[in-house]
Amino acid sequence: MRLNGKVAVVTGSARGIGRAITLAFAREGANLVINDVHAEKANDVVKEIESLGGKAVAVVADVSVREEAEKIIDAAIDRFGRIDILVNNAGITRDALFLKMTEEDWDKVMAVNLKGVFHCTKAALKHMVERKYGKIITISSMAGVSGNVGQTNYGASKAGVIGFTLCLAREMAKHGININSICPGFIDTELTRAIPEKVKSTMIPFLQYRAINHRLGKPEDVATVAVFLASDESSYITGEVIKVTGGAF
Ligand code: NAD
Repeated sequence: MRLNGKVAVVTGSARGIGRAITLAFAREGANLVINDVHAEKANDVVKEIESLGGKAVAVVADVSVREEAEKIIDAAIDRFGRIDILVNNAGITRDALFLKMTEEDWDKVMAVNLKGVFHCTKAALKHMVERKYGKIITISSMAGVSGNVGQTNYGASKAGVIGFTLCLAREMAKHGININSICPGFIDTELTRAIPEKVKSTMIPFLQYRAINHRLGKPEDVATVAVFLASDESSYITGEVIKVTGGAF
């Protein structure tokens, strides 16, 4: 019970990595705010957490819209009285080769992946600074570190998330707030399942060959690191980017 009684908000947590993080947090005793744009799936996660004996509330909101992001954080305060942990996990892809990428593809990815982090973090910090306590985790990506064909928008947003994390960690150290990023490689979720077969058929065997135990990453591989970064076991760690790639990248 490394997060016993803590209050955590995880954005984009109706499925995939976000969902795995909320379940891992609940098993460690945290109370959860589940956020997503998909109401039904978010409510399913609430039920799953309740079946584990935990407490959770779902907030349907788009992180890229300031008022909606504020609603997510307000839900933590209204239901549980405070916020201890924020995981900025919501993210999307709109892949295209750069010469074919539209301005809309660019703006949409930036709005969710980068501006969403700005909105949610700003709303959460208001409360965390007051209490001189908080753990903020951002989910970046190896696309923002080593690059990937067809992902200039996504890679730019995730490199932005890393820069954001590093700078804010320096600003928030004096307030007792830790900010770290988890940088996954290839994790088997609906996001990566949507990659065209032609691309996957060359990429996956190569990554599996290089990865430890020759397997792809699972959402739970990210969730265990999130538990550590959300817990007080990592209280002297801030401004770090932790790669979860199985060594494949
Ligand atoms: P996913 O698509 O399975 O889940 C993302 C969730 O975010 C979905 O439930 C979606 O509805 C939600 N979401 C999308 N836009 C939103 C918005 N505007 N507001 C609130 N919620 C929104 O993806 P995933 O693979 O679980 O990815 C989770 C995070 O991890 C993302 O930030 C992604 O970029 C990052 N990541 C994933 C991988 C991977 O290999 N799967 C690798 C590196 C980084």
